[in-house]
Amino acid sequence: MKKSTRVNHPPAVELPAGNHAVVAPIYQTVKFEFDTLATTEAFLRGERPGFLYTRASNPTTRQLEQLLAELQGREDCLVTASGIGAIAQTLLTLTGQGDHVVCFVETYPATRYLIRRLLGRFGVRHTMLGVEDLAGVERVLAAQPTRLVFFESPTNPITRIADIAALTRLARAAGALTVMDNTFAGFHQHGDYDIDLFVHSLTKYASGAGDVMGGAVIARSELIRGMRTDFSALGGVLDPHAAYLILRGLKTYFVRYQAQCASAGQIAQLLATHPQVERVHYPGLATHPQHQLAARQMRDFGSIVSFDLKGGEPAGRRFADALELFALAASLGSTESLVVTPAMMGGRDLDPAQQRTSGISAGTIRLSIGLEDPQDLLADVARALEAARS
Ligand SMILES: *Cc1c(COP(=O)(O)O)cnc(C)c1O
Repeated sequence: MKKSTRVNHPPAVELPAGNHAVVAPIYQTVKFEFDTLATTEAFLRGERPGFLYTRASNPTTRQLEQLLAELQGREDCLVTASGIGAIAQTLLTLTGQGDHVVCFVETYPATRYLIRRLLGRFGVRHTMLGVEDLAGVERVLAAQPTRLVFFESPTNPITRIADIAALTRLARAAGALTVMDNTFAGFHQHGDYDIDLFVHSLTKYASGAGDVMGGAVIARSELIRGMRTDFSALGGVLDPHAAYLILRGLKTYFVRYQAQCASAGQIAQLLATHPQVERVHYPGLATHPQHQLAARQMRDFGSIVSFDLKGGEPAGRRFADALELFALAASLGSTESLVVTPAMMGGRDLDPAQQRTSGISAGTIRLSIGLEDPQDLLADVARALEAARS
């Protein structure tokens, strides 16, 4: 064998039987082969398991899919290159021309865009309500056949809580699927409710480090089986190396989530008693209008704390610029704390009534709490609140 051939066929190193890597290797390969053409053909006929092409399946991404399915309490999962990729592919796969979808004003802006603009171009109709408007949901579901109800909880950015038992009961009775974007609550929450499909941005709590993007849809096998071919054809798959980074991030998911929630609770308490603050939105506070519902549905209340500053936009600008430990950046669930102002929240697609429903005011600030020392974060927030006053 010439050396130019050898470099393309390097020596194979395989672990002997009974010898295992403690951390699963990254299958950074697009192609897999079987030993013979006969076994390749058997695989293609679906008669034997295996891997052939990474866009269809890869052991590293498969490990991530199986772990996420187990964490969320469902049978199967498909991972994608981003959270919005998972949402887009799920919506495209589940709907067809003439279908009707129920969604809510308090939804991630890019998801609103997908439902209103993109699906709209393919003849999918929608009705957009406020997430607390259960009577409206009942009325709309009674008025026309509906393919699916898409919702979030807690909502972005002002942490409204969807009544999951009521929403899923109404949808089930009307023969509509429920799709829940569970990114804010995380993988260990809401699994015991009658939700058909969960979608997640893995960019947030799963990665934890804020250095990799990914998304997932998690559901019972029957639903995922029907989606697999469409997802592979749409092609927004997760790269094995990104899957590996997310698997690594998940190892610290529970300790990060709990530490971030504990700090978020302390910051919410500080804000709740501060004269410069009009209103705090944190489901863990007893003063949150839906605290009882949140406490029934959730084990942890999340790391997003939003609030309305007295003094509106000018006060918000002073506050955001005065913070030192919070990066002025989108996203959440990272190790670093982040701050977002109304200009960064989207919402220009909403009419004035919908903007009122969204609950975002000129003085609304969203904090995402990271893993810094809580005392340092409290001091930074207290100092920025003083700066906002002047
Ligand atoms: C970030 C986010 C998304 C989109 O996820 P990406 O990974 O950024 O594509 C969707 N829904 C919610 C609630 C999010 O916070």
